[in-house]
Amino acid sequence: MYNLFVNSYKKIVEKQQQSTKNVQQKELLGIYVHIPFCEKKCDYCDFISFCKNDEYKSKYVNALLKEISFTSSSYKNYVIDTIFIGGGTPTCLPNGEIFKIISQIKKCFNVSKNAEITVECNPNSLTSEKLDEFKIANVNRLSVGLQAYNNRLLKLIGRLHTKKQFDKAINLAKQKGFQNINADLILGIPTQKMHHIKKELRHLIKLKLPHISAYGLIVEENTKLCQNLNKGIYKLPSEELQVKMYDFTKEYLKKHGVEMYEVSNFAKQGYESKHNLKYWTDNEYLGLGLTSSSYINSTRWKNTDNFENYFKQIELKTLEKCELEHVDVNSQIEECVMLGLRTKNGISLSAFESKFGFDLLTKKKTEIKTLIDNNLIKIKGDNLFCTDQGFKLLNQVILALID
Ligand code: SF4
Repeated sequence: MYNLFVNSYKKIVEKQQQSTKNVQQKELLGIYVHIPFCEKKCDYCDFISFCKNDEYKSKYVNALLKEISFTSSSYKNYVIDTIFIGGGTPTCLPNGEIFKIISQIKKCFNVSKNAEITVECNPNSLTSEKLDEFKIANVNRLSVGLQAYNNRLLKLIGRLHTKKQFDKAINLAKQKGFQNINADLILGIPTQKMHHIKKELRHLIKLKLPHISAYGLIVEENTKLCQNLNKGIYKLPSEELQVKMYDFTKEYLKKHGVEMYEVSNFAKQGYESKHNLKYWTDNEYLGLGLTSSSYINSTRWKNTDNFENYFKQIELKTLEKCELEHVDVNSQIEECVMLGLRTKNGISLSAFESKFGFDLLTKKKTEIKTLIDNNLIKIKGDNLFCTDQGFKLLNQVILALID
């Protein structure tokens, strides 16, 4: 049975290798633009973001426009199929700045006319003017940071918005014709109960949002949240409850046609984030702006995280590639397995063989058989992916395949 499968798989590999070549000729690239500003620091956040005035923000955007211009000459062979303006809080930029950034990218890079263009938004700064600006800039996807649909919990984690502001922002966005909207949720907020999760999911389904991201809260050192937990001001939900929250989220959304396609991401069919899929499927992306990360030609680097250095380097038209790292083949294989298994489609066996020159099924024959026998993974056509049980024991599955 196993051999039968391997033979039919080989045929798929040959076909896929041809189509992989065709795709590679196009050299697709995603662009991530980092906007390192927020109106206020949230209690759990350790991202690179700062509270600055409008003048400073515009100075940053001007530098960014220059970076886009001089960086683009190195990427003339690429077609940009996704643009993601993230942060920080892009919607806290003065009106007109996001339009300038996207226009500059379109002017300097070869942007596909069907490119997915996403802007991360906070509900309290997603105004009617901003939405009009996004429409003119051809933004076609909004990612809105809801985090919790409960004012007490929002306040507890230091968010500025209320649930009413979220509803208003979503309704406005829909009126302006935006359909592809994501809401970010956090699972495991201190004092959060299962009934909060049920209520917010019910509400999001009622709003017919096609994409939901639900990440477990990570307690970062040196954040206010961490200090408050250490002082005993509040407590995290138990681990058992956090697992139940995640399982409920996955099941409830699935029942309503919003299916998990990556461990923390759920979408109606056709609404999966093309940009984020690049991170999980070993595709290339270019980061622009302070502290942004890039991954191109098996090489990873970051821009500086210091504003003054950034402004100086922009004037010199030479950005330092910080933390420059060539990702060797072994690390690429590990990442391909680790990230691929986080997705519903898992690992494309043909793409794997085409990229690394060996067949994963042959190399890991015994381990794969054991994982299949234990109902932790399945193979269907060209894809090796986790079962529901496998997702629960994801680390174990990954270790079996990369050790
Ligand atoms: S809005 Fe986002 S990036 Fe800004 S402080 Fe809050 S969590 Fe951090």
